[in-house]
This record gives sequence, structure tokens and C-alpha cells, in this order.
Amino acid sequence: MPQIALERADAVRLAVLPPLALYVHIPWCVRKCPYCDFNSHERGGELPERDYVRKLIQDLEAMLPSVWGRRLGSVFIGGGTPSLFSPEAIDELLAAVRARLPLEPGAEVTLEANPGTVEAGRFAGFRAAGVTRISLGIQSFDDAKLSALGRIHSAAEARRAVDTALASFDNVNLDLMYGLPDQDVAQACSDIRQAMSTGVPHLSAYQLTIEPNTVFYSKRPRLPAHDASADMQLAIEAALGEAGYEHYETSAFARPGRRCRHNLNYWEFGDYLGIGAGAHGKVSFPDRVTRHERIKQPAQYLSNEVTLVSERTVPVRDLPFEFMLNALRLVEGFPVTLFQDRTGLSPVAIQKNLEKAERDGLLERDWQRVRASARGRLFLNELLERFLPA
Ligand code: SF4
Repeated sequence: MPQIALERADAVRLAVLPPLALYVHIPWCVRKCPYCDFNSHERGGELPERDYVRKLIQDLEAMLPSVWGRRLGSVFIGGGTPSLFSPEAIDELLAAVRARLPLEPGAEVTLEANPGTVEAGRFAGFRAAGVTRISLGIQSFDDAKLSALGRIHSAAEARRAVDTALASFDNVNLDLMYGLPDQDVAQACSDIRQAMSTGVPHLSAYQLTIEPNTVFYSKRPRLPAHDASADMQLAIEAALGEAGYEHYETSAFARPGRRCRHNLNYWEFGDYLGIGAGAHGKVSFPDRVTRHERIKQPAQYLSNEVTLVSERTVPVRDLPFEFMLNALRLVEGFPVTLFQDRTGLSPVAIQKNLEKAERDGLLERDWQRVRASARGRLFLNELLERFLPA
């Protein structure tokens, strides 16, 4: 395997800083789903909304010196289930963000919500607070599958939640899963068709995978065979394509003009501040790229004065892999110039790796763009390994 060759192993030079976004993590859910390995915790009684919002603002203030003069292109309030927070708490949070870091005109502000946690009044309140986009964790429209996934909502509640969200927001994403216990291709397609029939402009379809430290890891459900899941993926991509949804990232599909700007910024190796329990962030400077991470456990996060557990400069030799890990998820790939813009490294650093991956049929290039080939998308890990440091 060719190794990454760097002209200078210790320094980068970024001519322009990447766009900046803000990720806010709210770590509580009504119940922990058996497949979930996110930093989410079953709520026990009343949520400490006020203290948590105060802590988020403190995190943000501590980060301000790193991003003076920059604007936020997007905010994403994820979790957990952020819709468990009241519209008043979200309003207080967003007002505090706007007062400290200017938002670009038309900035995208997404809030994740789960059916069973929101009614019409709450959605209207989130809208009034400045949220512009809702991402709903639907997973399936089939009661038996929802129950197998340990979800708290029924298919009818899922449909109601979509209608309610669409009454207040025109920009709505639905998260769906396929490769569910005992699912076949027809059932997976039925979920997608029902999702499309709601008219939402954005859909995300994730394959269920069994992750360590989850209930499913110790009590493994019977999942479809690998080939069956691959067939589901192809059928889902075809159905969404025929209906006019653009497949723009491994799992993301959007109507024209409705791609998720916040997630695009991750995939284009942009910068983002991470605030809240367990949140991660990435901030670039003219001579380095840094990453930061916060205390994971909500109780410790709330009780500690300093919430940062790590802040480090990404070693220069890791930058090509980190960039590719994100950018090669994009179906259309990335402009050749983006590599230099985001990593501060000359494309010469990866020239040999690109050539070899292209020769092996994993990558396609023209004079403007680089992207994973159909085979490269199928064997993405194999492709990414080509960019690991020696
Ligand atoms: S609702 Fe979402 S974040 Fe919460 S436990 Fe379930 S999958 Fe995880």
C-alpha cells in the first residue's frame, strides 16, 4: 500500500479558514434504544434544562477566542432527544448563541426530534425560537419493526409527528433504518415509499449495524443476510432516485436545494464547535487543525467547572486520512482544490495514493473532482485505508 508522503511532516498552511458550524449535544432520551451507541441516557425525572443551557453557554464562551471574527453557517442541536427540551430552553440557547457568534444570513438551524416527544405547540415554539429545520427519528413505519427496535412510538405516532412537523417547518428530514430484524426488501421499500409520500424534502436511510456496548450486541437479533441488506440498499437508492431525491452522501438523499448544510460541512472537512456532554469539535487555524472533546457523562459534565477533556492538534500525517474519511462519503466527491484548502497540504502529498486507488478501480478523477467509484463506495473502508498514515 502506498504511504502518505509529506514534504514537511510538522506544519500546514491554510490560506483560508473553512466555514464554521456549531454542534450542540443534548444527551437525554425517554428510553435507551437497544441498538444505540450514541451518548444518550435515559432521563430520570425532570431534566436539568436551565443548568444545562447555562453550561452550554459557558462552553461556547470558552471557545470564542478560537473563532473570533468568524460566523456560523449552521447550528445542529442533536442528541439524545433535544425535543425533550422546552421551546423556552431552546430559545434561550439560540438567543445566547446569536449574541455571541453571528449567524450567517439564512443560517440552517436543525433540531432533532423523536415521535412521542413533540406536539404541535412545541414545534411552533421551536420555530419561533429560530429553528429552521427538523430531523425526525422515525426509523420505520411498521409497528412490528418499531417494537423490535425498542422504539417508544408506533407507526401512527410516527405519521402524526411528520404531519405536525410539516405544519410548522417546510425543511424536514426523516431518519429511517433498513436491514432490520426479519426485514425483507419489500418491507424496506414500503418504509421508504411511506416516507416519500409525506413530501419531506430530505431522507436519511441507515443500515442497522450492531455496535459494541449496546443491548443488541449482547442479545443479537436475527438480522437479514449481508446480500439481502445490500439489495435493500440498492432498492432504496433506486426508489428515491426515481422520485427525484438526489443521493448526495452514503446515507443522505435530498430534493434539489435541500441538502443538509450542517452535515455537508462535516463531509467537506469544515470546522465546527462542539458544546454539550460528549460533544466533539474541530477548529482550524492558519498553521494547524485542532480537535476538542467534552466530558461525556451528563452528571459530570454539569458538575465540573471545565468541561473540556481533550484539545489537540491533529498530527499533519493524519490529515489526509481524516479528510478522505469525510469527503469520500460524498457521492459527487470533492473538488481537487478542497484538499489543499482544508488540510493546508499540497495535493502532491496524496498523488501516489490517488493514482493507485484509481488504478485499482476504487476511485474516479477528472481535472476538477475526485470521487469514490461505484466499487469504491461498496468497499469504502478498503479505499480509505489507502490514505492511512504509514
Ligand atoms: S432515541 Fe435516538 S439517541 Fe435516543 S436512545 Fe434511541 S436511537 Fe439513541
